[in-house]
Amino acid sequence: MATQATGGRINQDFVDANPESQVLHARARDALAGGVTHDVRIHEPFPVMIERASGSRKWDVDGNEYVDYTMGHGALVLGHTHPIPTNAAIEQLQRGTHYGASHELEIEWAEQVRSMMPSVERIRFTGSGTEATLMAIRLARAHTGRDRIVKFQYHFHGWHDYSHIAQSDPLDVPMSPGIPQAVQDTVTAIPTDLDRVREELAKGDVAALLIEPTGAAWGAMPVEASFVQALPALCREHGTVFVLDEVVTGFRLAPGGAQQLYDIKPDLTTMAKILAGGLPGGGVGGRADILERLEMRGDPAWDRGQRMAHPGTFNANPVSAAAGVAVLQHIADGAVHAQMDAVAARLRKEIQDVFDRHDLGALMYGESSYFHVSMTGTPMRNGLAGAAGAGLRRALHTHGVHIMTGGGLLSAVHTDEDIGRTVEAFEASVQDLEADGLVAS
Ligand code: PMP
Repeated sequence: MATQATGGRINQDFVDANPESQVLHARARDALAGGVTHDVRIHEPFPVMIERASGSRKWDVDGNEYVDYTMGHGALVLGHTHPIPTNAAIEQLQRGTHYGASHELEIEWAEQVRSMMPSVERIRFTGSGTEATLMAIRLARAHTGRDRIVKFQYHFHGWHDYSHIAQSDPLDVPMSPGIPQAVQDTVTAIPTDLDRVREELAKGDVAALLIEPTGAAWGAMPVEASFVQALPALCREHGTVFVLDEVVTGFRLAPGGAQQLYDIKPDLTTMAKILAGGLPGGGVGGRADILERLEMRGDPAWDRGQRMAHPGTFNANPVSAAAGVAVLQHIADGAVHAQMDAVAARLRKEIQDVFDRHDLGALMYGESSYFHVSMTGTPMRNGLAGAAGAGLRRALHTHGVHIMTGGGLLSAVHTDEDIGRTVEAFEASVQDLEADGLVAS
């Protein structure tokens, strides 16, 4: 990984604006594996180091201010340091961070989720979204007595062995080494084509079908709602557990997530991010007859044969529960969603106008409170993957806007002023791309 920018105005401006981040990154490379703690934070020539955040903004160690569209990878629906989760978490921190025991807040948290997502008859909390999808797969296998999982090509369900399969090109190579062939053989990844779904489910050996409801990579490769709506009945017909992965969409697309918008009832829903109010946490919710497989019955035949075991030190830890309850209660009436969606729609339109004015052929798209950018003009998994896309993201940094690898997410506290700044930053960044010859001018 280069740490020194090599020519070009965009690189030079980035390096000039971030001397302290560059120094810290040199330290990070020595101490942190790969220099970062999450793959999406890899950024050439080095990532900026953030010092504090508030509302829709964050500031780095060089004093640069950003309008933030990473929003805690989608977890911060009320923005940074919002008083509702912050005060709930502080109060809970003072009462105890871990009781090593059951507590009322976890019940309240479960009840709150249930009131917002009627498909959730029971829930079990986990430490993360990855643990949630892993757990849903284990539950489905235990429930059906089948091994095979069907997922969709490019869909992301976390980083455990099963979800790293067919996540990005080349689809026949897992995202990572270290995934046994025997594990790979239990996962079939198919395109979003109903005939292919029917064909696989008809074989009668599929434990679970998993999908990201708005399409791969939180909608970067959109699917039709009608496609998702056809899946529950097909799964029911073939005795397959239908798992809706609402880790991103849950509580974001609507108070009840994508399943509310699409009017569908999954067998199991996986969730995380907004669920825990911006703190770590996840969960699997759904049909009581499946989740009751976690119940200890005192009958050895059940407990050691039928029952799914599930420990986890930080499951439903009181601090995450407190923040989660506070945020979910606050957003339950949908007012926040209407506001975020309206601001995001304006953002998408105005940035598309910038692209069009410059005849860039790029596409700004998305739904609800998120957006994706594709420099090719076609929806794709990471539309900023090429040199022009990387240049755009780097230039946006310099002009005070931080987006994720292929797009970004808004919160309830992003304002018209943020949008104005963002549109100006896109305008300036496109001009930089033209000046550097990364796009035609
Ligand atoms: N499923 C989906 C759809 C996700 O987007 C993610 C993370 N972005 C996960 C699962 C994994 O969640 P976590 O990062 O909390 O492990």
